[in-house]
Amino acid sequence: MNGVPATQKLVIASGNSGKLREIRDLLAPAGIEVLPQSAFNVAEIEEPYRTFIENALTKARHASKLTGFPALADDSGICVDALDGGPGVYSARYAGEPGSDERNNQKLVDTLRNQPDRRAHYYCVMVLVRHADDPQPIIADGAWHGEIVMEPRGEGGFGYDPYFFLPELGKTAAELPMEQKNRISHRGKALARLVERIRQETF
Ligand code: IMP
Repeated sequence: MNGVPATQKLVIASGNSGKLREIRDLLAPAGIEVLPQSAFNVAEIEEPYRTFIENALTKARHASKLTGFPALADDSGICVDALDGGPGVYSARYAGEPGSDERNNQKLVDTLRNQPDRRAHYYCVMVLVRHADDPQPIIADGAWHGEIVMEPRGEGGFGYDPYFFLPELGKTAAELPMEQKNRISHRGKALARLVERIRQETF
């Protein structure tokens, strides 16, 4: 991989073990060692901003500042066309604190019940900073388009997946095997693009 030293370390600004494994698997062949920020006792921080990119950038900067290593952060959510892109960055706490998938889904279904336009997409942005004050972070994003259904289907995934229907597959995201979801999802696309960008950049 161009410009990347053999044992480059990268801190992931997330406590989610599923995300960590996915990122580790994709970056290991490139000689990049992925470490969770918890290994440095860095706690998760608030995500107070109105855009995904601001939240991800803030998390990445924070992790890099406290660890001294390059850091990667992501932010994601579901954006519903009829809700002007909402709940968006507020997806995890759409129905209030503490966040609950069940209450979030119920609120979404109730809100869209009389709405004919059920189009929605998941969105994910990933930001990699070489150091806390990096003026030129590496940024990659991905979207996954579908529509919201009124009845849940499937046992897999998490969050809004049982209500997120993919017309071209005839299934909800919760009905897809994990590997398939990871390949075609917003996060999968963003991660693949990020790996591509890392190949071209020095960090
Ligand atoms: P975060 O990026 O981990 O903060 O996720 C934000 C929220 O967006 C999650 O708590 C879910 O509500 C929603 N979300 C993001 N990605 C997915 C997904 O792949 N499936 C279901 N819900 C998701």
